[in-house]
Amino acid sequence: MSNRKPFIAGNWKLNKTLKDVFAFTAEVAGKLPSEDKVDVAIAAPALYLVPLKHHGDKALKVAAENVYYKGFGAYTGEIAAEQLAAEGIEYAVIGHSERREYFHETDEDINLKAKALLAAGVTPIMCCGESLETFEAGKTAEWVTAQIEKGLSGLTAEQVATLVIAYEPIWAIGTGKTATNEIADETCGVIRNVVRHLYGDATAEAVRIQYGGSVKPETIEGLMAKENIDGALVGGASLDAESFLGLLEMYQA
Ligand code: PGA
Repeated sequence: MSNRKPFIAGNWKLNKTLKDVFAFTAEVAGKLPSEDKVDVAIAAPALYLVPLKHHGDKALKVAAENVYYKGFGAYTGEIAAEQLAAEGIEYAVIGHSERREYFHETDEDINLKAKALLAAGVTPIMCCGESLETFEAGKTAEWVTAQIEKGLSGLTAEQVATLVIAYEPIWAIGTGKTATNEIADETCGVIRNVVRHLYGDATAEAVRIQYGGSVKPETIEGLMAKENIDGALVGGASLDAESFLGLLEMYQA
């Protein structure tokens, strides 16, 4: 537990139709905890960002699952940070392990995306995390340090203080295997120390770090009690409205 404002975000990935989106917004309407206590967001497929923004509860912030780093132009199929900003989309997930693996995104791409988002006024949720092989070889700290150093390259302390970093061990995503609270906290601490080393204490104390990987309503409280964990990025357990509300239970009055 720290004095940073907790941030719980769902990540719907490639799921739902517009009908499902509206069913979800109707189910959570009026049931979200106070914005004074916790920031709450859903990352959704691009097609549903605007409907979510317009029909969702005011307390439900919206996140893109990806963005392109170039501005307007001849880039068929892409979405620009300026477009997200113009529609009031508050956040964008960048560097999710699924995008790194299936769409060959590199740390350099992720760095450019972070810069484009920050320039447009959209907050990046920058993901990092190691494979099972790296974890078992005891090289997690080394791996995430390199990912974060490259991801943050060229950003200012003021920019980094506003961003969100998500630590998501690949072996824990969608597998039902959550990292123990201690492992999750330790690696989030490693990430905070990378920020400390690069930008100093004030920035390291300001940056919010989420844990992600099989977080469930039953496991979130233990994770959130840890010093270096400021939130969660939740896939499977964010799809169903009741389960999503369960993730927020501890912040209800
Ligand atoms: P999961 O996904 O909660 O289903 O493991 C987390 C994520 O990939 O962001």
